[in-house]
Amino acid sequence: MTTVSESEKVLPAPAPFVLPEVKPFWDGTAEGKLLLARCLEDRTLIWYPRPFCPTCASTQVEWVPASGRGTVYSYTVNRRGVADLPAYREAGVYVLAYVELEEGPRMMTNIVDCDPDSVRIGQKVELVFHDTGQGSALPRFRPAAA
Ligand SMILES: [Zn+2]
Repeated sequence: MTTVSESEKVLPAPAPFVLPEVKPFWDGTAEGKLLLARCLEDRTLIWYPRPFCPTCASTQVEWVPASGRGTVYSYTVNRRGVADLPAYREAGVYVLAYVELEEGPRMMTNIVDCDPDSVRIGQKVELVFHDTGQGSALPRFRPAAA
């Protein structure tokens, strides 16, 4: 029997179910872009991705690329598999976080490429994409280069 150490485990990148109205967002991830919807009426940046404005109900939105820079707003270190998410059952220790984007929205994501116990609130992070292998990629973050 082969034993895989915690550090060798890889966080899975399961493909999302893509609704047609947010296909531009997921197509962007495949091209290495994190796109934010922005209302053309009142300029509200909209998160999570959706084709209407939660502030004024306009359906006139455009997709604009985020910088990919942010800070850790909150996080938790998951040390147990997630029983009802098969892809994550053997994920090992990983970080689930809210990252506040430089543009303002806070997104739920993972902090990767670091010791989970080194993550801190307020830490500067930068965007990375993990390819799902199915025409999309998951936006995640790693500690920003100094
Ligand atoms: Zn609006």
